[in-house]
Amino acid sequence: MNFRKINRQSLLFVIIFILLFSHFPSIAVQQIFAYDIPINYEEMTHQLHYFAGQYPEIVSLESLGKSVDGRNLWLVKLGKGDIELHIHGSLHARERITTNIILKNLEEYTAAYQLEDQLIEGYHVKDLLDEVTIYFVPMANPDGVDYTIGGKGSIQTHGLRTQLDEMSLTDDSVHFPPGLMRWKANIRGVDLNRQFPLGWENELYKDPGYPSDSMYKGEAPLSEPESRILYDLQLNHPFMINVTYHTQGSVIFWYQTEDWLVRQKTHRLADKVASHTGFESVPTDATGGGFTDWSIGSLYTPSLTLEFGKNQYADADFDTIYPAARSLPLLLAEEAIRMDQLVTYEIQVNGKTVKKYEFEHHAHASIQNYLSDEEQDVAIIKRTLAQRMSLKAIHTKTMMKQYEPLIFSSLRLLCETCTILQK
Ligand SMILES: [Zn+2]
Repeated sequence: MNFRKINRQSLLFVIIFILLFSHFPSIAVQQIFAYDIPINYEEMTHQLHYFAGQYPEIVSLESLGKSVDGRNLWLVKLGKGDIELHIHGSLHARERITTNIILKNLEEYTAAYQLEDQLIEGYHVKDLLDEVTIYFVPMANPDGVDYTIGGKGSIQTHGLRTQLDEMSLTDDSVHFPPGLMRWKANIRGVDLNRQFPLGWENELYKDPGYPSDSMYKGEAPLSEPESRILYDLQLNHPFMINVTYHTQGSVIFWYQTEDWLVRQKTHRLADKVASHTGFESVPTDATGGGFTDWSIGSLYTPSLTLEFGKNQYADADFDTIYPAARSLPLLLAEEAIRMDQLVTYEIQVNGKTVKKYEFEHHAHASIQNYLSDEEQDVAIIKRTLAQRMSLKAIHTKTMMKQYEPLIFSSLRLLCETCTILQK
């Protein structure tokens, strides 16, 4: 065998490879962490500090407050823009793979941002994150997630362990291995996606009426610190879009509110996300303390519940679940920019914009959320036409840049079709 020849050939191959692909901006981003394994609160916290430390220009990290058992609800702000959108994961404990999805997004987007012209599935990461800030809460129910991984030993507070023992006496659900993966609630047995103020008073489907692994709505709306923290975050930020990540079913749920203006916007968004992910868009009528129901019905913000994964899955199936989510927040960022162009009314509290609306009656209805505190200076501000036009000019420029590669690829596709036809 002529080794010298082989080496020369391999060298040539490597050089050709580098020359060929160094100009392509969409090469896969380097993988730092593994996501096909369970990720508990400690590991997530470690990773979030890593991203914030490596990419301080576009990632910042803060604690929004503590869970029942004293864990931080981390808020990760990704991006530099003043257009904001919100995504959270693991509101339901056993659906913890949604935290992995968000972490993987962070890993890919931060690396892509540094490379300036990096595209992810046709989306220009840097351009979008210069205009939009994504407010991720990767683990909205950290005690519950840790319980599904570490069992009772993960509970730090003695009193909470005793409460859990009492729960198992009243409920025929299986709280202990092998039933750990049934657990959806927070560590006090309250289903956090039944805690929000809209429709909470209704008699809810399958509510056991006492703390349980799932479906218990709690003693009052927002009785749990985790749901209260998400509620406060919403009241303090003008999110254009809210999305809550769940599993499973490959379905998008959204509440068909009677207010047809916000219903139209949500419907349009759901259709876009459905064609992007391949999920089915399912409008719902009933409300029952759900996060998106409240966000659509009371905050007038287009919002979706996304159910990832088709059937029963394991942590190891991450790679089959992630593709639907890979560029999804970038699509949402693009949609948020579009929605922001239409904003005419802003609610300001002490001079800070906390809500943005296209329609006046949404601003007037939503301002009720702020009036109970007499100490606050609350106002509705109308954007002038000149302000709206100048914002639109900036955003349109970004959108044009964004679409260039897509136009190019569709032209190429057309050409290829031509060739085939000519044959
Ligand atoms: Zn869920």
